[in-house]
Amino acid sequence: RGKLLDVSNLKVSFYTYRGVVKALNGVELWMDSGERLGVVGETGCGKSVTSLAVMRLIEQPGEIQEGKIIFNGRNLVELSEEKMNNIRGVEMSMIFQEPRSSLNPVMKVGYQIGEAIAKSKKIRIKNTYPEVKEMLRLVGLDAERVMNSYPHELSGGMSQRVMIGMALATHPKLLIADEPTSALDVTIQAQILELLDELARKMGNAVMLITHDMGVVAEFCDKVLVMYAGNSVEYASTVRLFEKPLHPYTGGLLQAVPRVGRTDELKAIKGTVPDLVNPPSGCRFHPRCPYAMDICKAERPPFVEIEPDHYVACYLFKGKNEVREDG
Ligand code: SF4
Ligand code: MG
Repeated sequence: RGKLLDVSNLKVSFYTYRGVVKALNGVELWMDSGERLGVVGETGCGKSVTSLAVMRLIEQPGEIQEGKIIFNGRNLVELSEEKMNNIRGVEMSMIFQEPRSSLNPVMKVGYQIGEAIAKSKKIRIKNTYPEVKEMLRLVGLDAERVMNSYPHELSGGMSQRVMIGMALATHPKLLIADEPTSALDVTIQAQILELLDELARKMGNAVMLITHDMGVVAEFCDKVLVMYAGNSVEYASTVRLFEKPLHPYTGGLLQAVPRVGRTDELKAIKGTVPDLVNPPSGCRFHPRCPYAMDICKAERPPFVEIEPDHYVACYLFKGKNEVREDG
């Protein structure tokens, strides 16, 4: 599986007054170096929780309960916070939907990017400024001006450029982008994606792109992971997934392809996302699935390889290794 990142059987729960929210129910996800993986699914399917778990940013009342997150040969689940802190923002970085909320409002932009570089290189912030300037130019900003600006002086699009510059300044192996364009104007969205595309190509880092926009996935990603109610339900190359979606949920998602720039949620699939305090038994999709059988209610379908590099969790399909030729 993935040489850069290999997440297996990842379980995360949140302890709330309503009960235990089983947000991730054994997620499987992997990536190779330099690869772009799109993680898709409706709101509440666990896309963001998965990415936060990979960054080890799940906070109380949430908890990683089981599973492995192997990144570059180390199991992040077992690392001390101190060791994790040397990886986060250095070997893997993250950008969010709301760039301004991730910037410190009372510090100049140049200083904030400098801080990130200083941490990774273990040098003084003032010695990072040439690099900060270069990074700002690389993300298409007027370096001199933006260095000395406060976050509120920048537009949403400029702030996201700053975030991308800050995230890539340390040359991480993995950039996680959680809905990086959905808070921006339509015209700016395309520019930001283009910038991400260009820089990731130049720097060779892998990108995990979390989105509910299948149009963006088609343009940007090599591979796609479809999540449903805290489970990985289908994984394939982007080309294969669009050409031959196997899981009934993926079929519904593709019919719901929103026009580029529309940020409302996918509505083509009947029914609603299940309550994860009392999730449906067996296959969590069974109440919405037109093909549900008895076994679907009884047992969770395993995530198995159906054809090379194409994985599905659904009883309609038998794994590659289980298929027997007769005679
Ligand atoms: Fe539908 Fe059963 Fe497949 Fe789940 S396992 S998607 S309920 S057919
Ligand atoms: Mg989210």
